[in-house]
Amino acid sequence: MFANPVISPLFGWAPSDRLKNWAGNLEYSTSRLYSANSLDHVRGYVKKQTKLKVLGTRHCFNNIADSRFHFLSLKLMDEVVALDPKAHTVTVDAGMTYGQLCPYLHTKGFALHNLASLPHISIAGACSTATHGSGEKNGNLATAVSELEIVTARGEVVHLFRKLDGEAFRGAVVGLGALGVITKITLDVQPTFMMRQYVYENMLLRDMKDHFDAIESSAYSVSLFTDWQKQRINEVWIKSRVEEGPAFDKAPEFFGAKRATRNLHPIAELSAENCTEQMGVPGPWYERLPHFRMGFTPSAGKELQSEYFVPRQHAVEAILAMERLRDLIGPHLMISEIRAIAADNLWLSPCYEQSCVTIHFTWKQDWPAVRKLLPVIEKELAPFEARPHWGKLFTTSPTQLKSLYKKIPEFVQLTTKYDPRGKFRNEFLDTNIFNS
Ligand SMILES: Cc1cc2nc3c(=O)[nH]c(=O)nc-3n(C[C@H](O)[C@H](O)[C@H](O)COP(=O)(O)OP(=O)(O)OC[C@H]3O[C@@H](n4cnc5c(N)ncnc54)[C@H](O)[C@@H]3O)c2cc1C
Repeated sequence: MFANPVISPLFGWAPSDRLKNWAGNLEYSTSRLYSANSLDHVRGYVKKQTKLKVLGTRHCFNNIADSRFHFLSLKLMDEVVALDPKAHTVTVDAGMTYGQLCPYLHTKGFALHNLASLPHISIAGACSTATHGSGEKNGNLATAVSELEIVTARGEVVHLFRKLDGEAFRGAVVGLGALGVITKITLDVQPTFMMRQYVYENMLLRDMKDHFDAIESSAYSVSLFTDWQKQRINEVWIKSRVEEGPAFDKAPEFFGAKRATRNLHPIAELSAENCTEQMGVPGPWYERLPHFRMGFTPSAGKELQSEYFVPRQHAVEAILAMERLRDLIGPHLMISEIRAIAADNLWLSPCYEQSCVTIHFTWKQDWPAVRKLLPVIEKELAPFEARPHWGKLFTTSPTQLKSLYKKIPEFVQLTTKYDPRGKFRNEFLDTNIFNS
């Protein structure tokens, strides 16, 4: 049952090695991994264990997915269960990744509203941590969820519906893996669409500051990449829907930035081969919304990540506060990204009842240095009540988390209904949610 021989090759992991997260910065506290391939397997396994965590695609940088006891993988449960063209929904097994789902949806004439920077991640894991893309009118990926099937600590199967279950549903969707095992997930879909992606280089920080709202509203999804040096935004990535509304004006200049003449990686020194097509070439939504292509390494690989959600009204002030830290940040940074996300009503979403701008850091993999820097960054962002990303590295204290995420007490209540003895809790949850 443990270190299941089927799962080892699927994770590219030899059972003799310690199991690690995707970036390799975290060695999980156990390598006992059981791979289920049916709802009955999941139920049986959950009933037997006193402590376990579900492991998705292991793309979190902190110990949110870690377990000292047992891991359950749903990687083998990765089928589309039902596409309902009338209701505009798709139901999938929870082991499925966006990379698997998106081409299927497109061939059937449908699309999701948004994607993260990479399609490699599991849908259940991404929604459980409020993973997001960009676009000021786009909610995070969890906002597409309309129904969850969850196996609770007792092995019972529970269905939660957006339309029927009100607050319980809104509490469960960004669930940090604390309620139980999500076995099926239903997402809103819309008619498929085509997109074009343009990249502009070298926008002066001053122009970003003076025109931030116009920049953010210029297209369906906008990302600003900066290394915080030389008072500039290094690259502006614009993702524009081909058919919707006025087309993005692909002028040679965009608020002083120059249109790139070749595909670029957000980290300019790295090959753009791993990146989605740019230069205005039209393509389906799922090949333009992520920055990185399925089948290629996303981002840099050996790295760390942190990200903070700042209420939209403080965006420019918060960005300028980060720029003032440029000499401290610079030596440890690969690249930063600034994105916009719409407000939602999911209890533990960092965008709960507030539209946000996120300030993201892709760090060199030097945790001692990054660990010293994060409190400095968090102190600068504290006046703006910035909320950290659940799946990335932060040093925000449990007390601060509780004041930033106002629904934590209700969330604790909700989890005790489904998991009264803390079967799905781990050190991350005990520290940040249950003891906070
Ligand atoms: C290169 C890279 C780029 C990234 N880009 C973005 C980005 O653009 N935007 C963004 O917001 N984040 C981004 N992230 C962060 C990442 O996408 C999220 O943290 C996400 O949670 C990863 O999903 P996963 O399945 O790999 O999660 P895991 O790390 O495997 O698990 C995360 C949590 O979900 C729980 N979980 C997983 N599956 C289930 C299930 N079936 N039932 C119950 N609980 C479950 C786990 O127990 C754990 O608590 C990026 C990460 C990397 C490595």
